[in-house]
Amino acid sequence: MIEVIPVPALSDNYIWMLRDPDSGTVAVVDPGQDVPALDAANQRGWRISQILTTHWHPDHTGGNSAIKAATGAIITAPAEAERLSPVDRIVAEGDRVSVGGLEAMVWEIPSHTAGHIAFYFEEAKIIFVGDTLFAMGCGRLFEGTPEQMFANMQRFAALPDDVRIYCGHEYTLANARFAAHVEPDNAAIAERLAAVAAMRTRGEVTLPTTIGEERATNPFMRAPDVAELARLRTMKDSFS
Ligand code: ZN
Ligand code: FE
Repeated sequence: MIEVIPVPALSDNYIWMLRDPDSGTVAVVDPGQDVPALDAANQRGWRISQILTTHWHPDHTGGNSAIKAATGAIITAPAEAERLSPVDRIVAEGDRVSVGGLEAMVWEIPSHTAGHIAFYFEEAKIIFVGDTLFAMGCGRLFEGTPEQMFANMQRFAALPDDVRIYCGHEYTLANARFAAHVEPDNAAIAERLAAVAAMRTRGEVTLPTTIGEERATNPFMRAPDVAELARLRTMKDSFS
């Protein structure tokens, strides 16, 4: 079984560290900082040999250069990441990426950034979605349209219920409060809000989430059309 470990970074980012137990190959996803990722690997006696980047933002690429310098790791990223990071392999829709014996397919999921990608490990049933999909929410539309985000949400929603989703930030509690505000009669949302609030009180990581949970409790995935997603996104931008 694939191992995936959260490495907290910056204020609310997660660097995800994954390991293929058969080959011992270790990759980090979106290391916004180098030191937490290198420390987490060292503590386990792991050696990082790959960096997977979902989008160009500095809180997802800030550690790339230093981790590469320290470990020789190969950086796989969308072309847009070259703005801030060295890139060894540029990938796009349909490309395959191997981490030891594990294989991911690259999805292009533009809207948070124009070149944002996801890494979908189909056999392992896990997907790294960066800042496009969050537990009970979605990313801000900095470089794209509601149409694109709606298409992304539909694509995620078509995955099997038990696919685990690894997001770039610990935003679940704020998202849950918004979800409860816009779907006050949704019992699954109310229940999850209570559970997430308790987890955060205990300092626990609320991720990964699953496609099944998101289908039941994520207003952006549940939006029936582009207009509703756009309305929710605009409302969320100023919700507190
Ligand atoms: Zn981010
Ligand atoms: Fe971002």
